[in-house]
Amino acid sequence: MTPTLLWFRQDLRLQDNPALHAALARGGPVIPVYVWEESCESPAAEGARANDGWAAQPGAASRWWLHHSLEALDAAVRERGGRLILRRGDPLAELQEIVRATGAKGVYWNRRYEPAARARDARVQTELAAAGLDVKTFNSALLNEPETILNKQGGPFQVFSAYWRHCLTLPVAAPRKLPAGPIPAPERWPRSLDVAALELRPRVAWDRGLAQAWTPGEASAAKRMTRFVAGAIDRYDEERDFPGCDGTSMLSAALHWGEISPRQLWAAVRGRSRESGVFPPSNGARIFLAELGWREFAYHLLWHFPHTIEQPLRRAFARFSWAEDPEGRRLRAWQRGQTGYPIVDAGMRQLWQTGWMHNRVRMIVASFLVKHLRLSWPHGATWFWDTLVDADLANNTLGWQWSAGCGADAAPYFRIFAPVLQGRKFDSDGVYVRRWVPELARLPDRFLHAPWTATAQTLAAAGVRLGENYPRPVVDHAAARAEALAAFRQLREPP
Ligand code: FAD
Repeated sequence: MTPTLLWFRQDLRLQDNPALHAALARGGPVIPVYVWEESCESPAAEGARANDGWAAQPGAASRWWLHHSLEALDAAVRERGGRLILRRGDPLAELQEIVRATGAKGVYWNRRYEPAARARDARVQTELAAAGLDVKTFNSALLNEPETILNKQGGPFQVFSAYWRHCLTLPVAAPRKLPAGPIPAPERWPRSLDVAALELRPRVAWDRGLAQAWTPGEASAAKRMTRFVAGAIDRYDEERDFPGCDGTSMLSAALHWGEISPRQLWAAVRGRSRESGVFPPSNGARIFLAELGWREFAYHLLWHFPHTIEQPLRRAFARFSWAEDPEGRRLRAWQRGQTGYPIVDAGMRQLWQTGWMHNRVRMIVASFLVKHLRLSWPHGATWFWDTLVDADLANNTLGWQWSAGCGADAAPYFRIFAPVLQGRKFDSDGVYVRRWVPELARLPDRFLHAPWTATAQTLAAAGVRLGENYPRPVVDHAAARAEALAAFRQLREPP
């Protein structure tokens, strides 16, 4: 039998990998390939004009994750007698070259849904099929592919609850276990680069915090899933909003890179239901599955409204009057976690140091950027894109448009998160702020989220010198709120 190329992309796992299953079923050797295409691997590249912009290339934290995930995948493939062939350049040209070198007759991969990746994949598929190759593609990343879900009028859903209600009526396919035994190897392996030659890791070593926080790869994702589904998932409904406790799965990067699939998560939760016969087994599990639903919804929206990567879904928001920030002072204060609002600064520092931020805090910092600082949401999306290990075109676009009030099913514009109240409510014991803003650690709880309200004596006793070792608030909450509401009000007036 002739070899089949298995083109890995955002499906960096062996279990529940439909393209791998099909390649094995075809018979003959399987050649796993990953092609790093710096300019086109990005979801936004390649002629999708509307998408040039903040997502033009995978960000630095994503590249760090990818480096380690490829290493883990290569090790897993080697354990099964195979090898991961690494290349750099145009995927079509690299795949064609490997086909020529190995006599492969099949090229299989799992589908991607970002606009530019879709355009690129269509081109690759057409060219390879025209050359007489057996080309097959599969769904590995979603419970339901975006175009398969339509409302009663035959259009896309724009309200999450209706979308998810509909999805819950559909069956979820069981994940497929990789058969035991080796992955059949070709007689000769084509040439491959070393993962270091892809130059995904930063040149300046800023990645220590990432390395301390994460172990990329399928095995680590599986362990994280097992631990979460066996325990914290049942408290998810109560704990998921509190950034100081480990109440969420922290599986977003693994899901983004396809180290684990939503079907595997679904099946793990279903497995928990075996004893009780009740599915989902708890309210926490039900809400957790709905969060996977938000991920699906994000892909649904991206598929049907690809312009939302850069443009507001609600057109009126294109006229929004953003604040001037000519020297970038406000933006820098936000990026560096120096706004003077402790919960905002804690989130931005967690992001910088670990490449991840708790969802509640993502909402707070996003609202702060867009509403308090009145800087446009693509500024925030761009920063998240570069710094998140889970940076995901669909989820990030949805998250920012939701926060700015201009997306589908978005937070209403007048909902302006008050950072002090949010801090007091969701980090009342200050565990989160004390961890990420250590210069405030000795402040008593009641001043922790608003240090400027403490007396000079209290500040001195806690070692806090406002304006010196911790900033004064970059904007006044009440004034910023009033200005944001006035700017939003203008949207309702005719242009
Ligand atoms: P859990 O609470 O354990 O949820 C499980 C999974 O469900 C997550 O891993 C994720 O895949 C999905 N999920 C959860 N919440 C959401 C949501 N609101 N929207 C879409 N999917 C969700 N998530 C990303 O994966 N990548 C991003 O680039 C991203 N950018 C965001 C930007 C903003 C401004 C906001 C407000 C949210 C963003 N999110 C993004 C969504 C969410 O914050 C993260 O998915 C979540 O914090 C990841 O942590 P977790 O894995 O512990 O999530």
